[in-house]
Amino acid sequence: MLREAIVVGRRLQIRGVVQGVGFRPFVYRLAREYGIRGWVCNGERGVEIHAEGEPGALDAFARAIETRPPPAARVATVQSAPATVENFAGFEIRASEKQDVPTVRISPDLPVCAACLRELFDPADRRFEYPYINCTDCGPRYSIILGLPYDRPNTTMRDWPMCEACAAEYHDPANRRFHAQPVACAQCGPNVVLEAGGSARHGGSAAIREAAALLRDGAIVAVKGLGGYHLACDARNSRAVTALRERKYRKERPFAVMARDPDVACEYVTLDAESMRLLASIRRPIVLAESRVDLDGVAPDNRELGIMLPYTPLQHLLYAFGAPELLVMTSANRSNEPIAYTDADAFERLGGIADAFLIGEREIARRIDDSVARATKRGPVVVRHSRGFAPESVATLPVTEPILAVGADLKNAITLVVSGEAFSSQHIGDLDHFAAFEAFRATIADLCAMYEVRMEDLLVVHDAHPEYASTLYARSLPGRHLAVQHHRAHVASVLAERGCWDERVIGVAFDGTGYGDDGSIWGGEIFEGSVRAGFRRAAHLRTALLPGGDAAARFPVQAAAGFLEQIDGLPDLTAPPFVFPAARYRGALELARKRIRTFPTTSVGRLFDTVAALLGFTRETTFEGQAAMWVEHLARASAPAAPYAFPVCESELDFRPTLAAIVADRLRGRGANEIAAAFHAGLADAICEACAAFEPHRIVASGGVFQNTLLLELLDARLGDRLWTNAVVPANDGGISLGQAAIAALTAGV
Ligand SMILES: [Zn+2]
Ligand SMILES: [Zn+2]
Ligand SMILES: [Zn+2]
Repeated sequence: MLREAIVVGRRLQIRGVVQGVGFRPFVYRLAREYGIRGWVCNGERGVEIHAEGEPGALDAFARAIETRPPPAARVATVQSAPATVENFAGFEIRASEKQDVPTVRISPDLPVCAACLRELFDPADRRFEYPYINCTDCGPRYSIILGLPYDRPNTTMRDWPMCEACAAEYHDPANRRFHAQPVACAQCGPNVVLEAGGSARHGGSAAIREAAALLRDGAIVAVKGLGGYHLACDARNSRAVTALRERKYRKERPFAVMARDPDVACEYVTLDAESMRLLASIRRPIVLAESRVDLDGVAPDNRELGIMLPYTPLQHLLYAFGAPELLVMTSANRSNEPIAYTDADAFERLGGIADAFLIGEREIARRIDDSVARATKRGPVVVRHSRGFAPESVATLPVTEPILAVGADLKNAITLVVSGEAFSSQHIGDLDHFAAFEAFRATIADLCAMYEVRMEDLLVVHDAHPEYASTLYARSLPGRHLAVQHHRAHVASVLAERGCWDERVIGVAFDGTGYGDDGSIWGGEIFEGSVRAGFRRAAHLRTALLPGGDAAARFPVQAAAGFLEQIDGLPDLTAPPFVFPAARYRGALELARKRIRTFPTTSVGRLFDTVAALLGFTRETTFEGQAAMWVEHLARASAPAAPYAFPVCESELDFRPTLAAIVADRLRGRGANEIAAAFHAGLADAICEACAAFEPHRIVASGGVFQNTLLLELLDARLGDRLWTNAVVPANDGGISLGQAAIAALTAGV
């Protein structure tokens, strides 16, 4: 050696999603590449590295950790500090130690990676056509974890001891499958079974081939996925799609589809670069995109189609064995029930729906639906936070005590805050379904157990609605309790995503239903304030009446009666061009006029229903938000139209001139598309005018109404960068729990 190399020591601490994603073997390989000595292990707050080497090599090593981490990892921070040189001879991976406070994050489930796919279709590979192939870069995580630390005995793979060949890979630090907990092969691991007409057919790929053939023939096949069963059928076979709708009791709600590959996806929907990136991302969500082909019965009256790409090896095999290129892939359940995820439950609930079952032998630890997302001008936006996203941290809150926020009753999801990290659960569903309520309770117990949080130490946050099932359950838990008003939680969810606690903003929360401070049904609220200082109700939609209570949310005509009751000189709406069903409309109008069984409301969701009714949607809705989506769908087909008058007087957004104009325009014969467009423009103007009355510069919009992308685009054009909306959690009630947690963290003195 010509000169003595200077060797220094450095201690690196990596935080983020760094466990269960092949991070330690990655660091091991990098260390060898750069000639670094020392060790790596899972520490208290992520991955810890002791590195010794020449300063230049150490810098390059640290840079590489940040710039080219494994595909599933997300490096939040890399902290570096000098360390004493201990003259290690090589580099080693040290065993993970069980920590007192587990702040290590659980990775979401991952789609099969390119390297595994190559092996899957390589006849020479020992995992050729093996449907459970995976490695540290891919495969199940959250859906198989039974407890922490994330090791094989704590997963649903515990019943499948590894064969010698798999064990050798598992123990070799240089191997892609080093410590890949679900590693398996056809010799030692689970396989799939097809059950059709009572005759079980074992034998892996033969079962998958048979399922693909059944799908080609128009059958409905229940296929076990990562977080539950899907019901699959040929999306281009209208008889199969119709049969699925009838058997599933799903009248009109759109079905999601899965395309064999990106090229096939492009034939059915318009995908810009951003949508394509989202579609192929490791999240693999259902992406909402404009449809290019009208598929009979798949997404009726909807300009968008929810589309995804295969993400499990089994799905890839189905396509390779000739399944139709575009499959309906809908959560296996009846109507709005939660997705079936155990085999017994699937058989019981889907017996009358599926012609055959493709059953994977690996158990699913918890139900996780597919996520739904959309690429927008503002970047990707999550509409349903579930597989591929949950249970990762969605925000960091300035709090050390644990908080449990239980969300709202519709589109429920919960958030557990541990050491300031807000872990949002997968989508749970509507809690009026018993099975969803059970899932809600199980998810709370599950996340608390996983992060070793004791119930009695929790601050439990719930909606202000005294009769919500989530509220009643929250109040039955030990610990302290805090109620947070629904619409304030919506606004806070946006600010929590950005970690903005003190900035004064105008918060616009528009949705269908939320319990107001005065006990009435709110849903068109404008606030002023900050998360820390609280939000003052500054303006709202003019109060209307909701005749007949809950049913008004299902019958747009009934909601319309409560709004139109305030319009003078109304024509007979049971006559053309309106043709409201006479009995329901007149009955509701009567209730509204006499103030019998009516409830005051400021719901913008019901205002959309009213407009839908006036434009011809006079039947019952079959899923939440359907009428509003229909109005947006109409407006999209129109050129931009001049806004209807929607004045703001004395902090009230007055819908009367708009509704009167719509009635008059309809009588005059103006097209429904143009009217819908003018309504959207008027509402956007009203929001801007209302906001202009208050001082804060920043405008925050949240609530289910802001899933309307046309309304958002109109606001974007008027407000630009001043407008903040949700991206990480849904704008609908799926994002409520994050907002609840944020308000609790900042105001409850925890
Ligand atoms: Zn892989
Ligand atoms: Zn094996
Ligand atoms: Zn809401």
